[in-house]
Amino acid sequence: MFHGTQPGWLEVISGVMFSGKSEEMIRRVRRAVIAKKNVQVFKSHVDDRYGGVYTVSSHDGTIVEAEPVQSSLEIMERVRPDTEVVAVDEAQFLDMGIVTVANALAARGVRVILAGTDSDFRAERFGAMPELMAAAEIVDKLHAICVVCGGPASRNQRLVNGRPAPYDSPQIMVGGRESYEARCRHCHQVPRKDEAQGALL
Ligand code: ADP
Ligand code: ZN
Repeated sequence: MFHGTQPGWLEVISGVMFSGKSEEMIRRVRRAVIAKKNVQVFKSHVDDRYGGVYTVSSHDGTIVEAEPVQSSLEIMERVRPDTEVVAVDEAQFLDMGIVTVANALAARGVRVILAGTDSDFRAERFGAMPELMAAAEIVDKLHAICVVCGGPASRNQRLVNGRPAPYDSPQIMVGGRESYEARCRHCHQVPRKDEAQGALL
C-alpha cells in the first residue's frame, strides 16, 4: 500500500471497456468529496458519444460535475488553485501532454486519478496510458468478463457488422460501446486485411 507523507501523487485505473474503471473512479471521487476535499473531474470530449457528461454525488448532497475537455492543456488551465483532487476519465483519448500535466499537478500537491483503457482494439498501446502507468505511484488494472468464455477480459474486441474489425481500421472510431466486447487474450481477434476478407467470403 502507498501512503504518501506529502500530498501529491498519481493513481492510474486502467483496464478494458466494461472493467469498471468509471465505477472505481466515481467511488474514489465520492470518498474524496466526503473527506471535504476540493475535487474537479474531467472527461475527454471525444467520449461524448458514450452518454455525455456525468455527475458524481455524495450522500450529503454535494455534486461534482465532470467537465468535458479536448486537451491536456485545457485541464491545466481549468484546475483551480485550491483543487486538491483531480480525476480524469477516458484519459487514453488525450494528447501526450497529459503526462506533463499530471506530473506538474502532483508536484504541486494534487492527488491525480486517471482512468483509461491502456490498449486499443488491436491490443496495442492507447495514447499516453503506458506513460501514465510508468509515472504513477499506484496502478490498478481491472478486468471485465470475457463475453465468449467467461474468463477475465483484458482486451477490447471491436466488431463491425458483428465480425472482428480488421487490424488496419482506425484506432478511434465513431460508434460507441455497442461496437465493442470485452474479451480475454485467447478469444480476442484482430484479423489482418486478407484474413478479414476471407472471413467475409
Ligand atoms: P469502464 O469505465 O471500465 O468502461 P464502467 O464502470 O463504465 O466500466 O462499467 C462497468 C459495468 O459494466 C459493470 O459493473 C457491469 O455492470 C457492466 N458490464 C457490461 N458488460 C460487462 C462485461 N463483459 N464484464 C464486466 N462488466 C460488464
Ligand atoms: Zn475468453
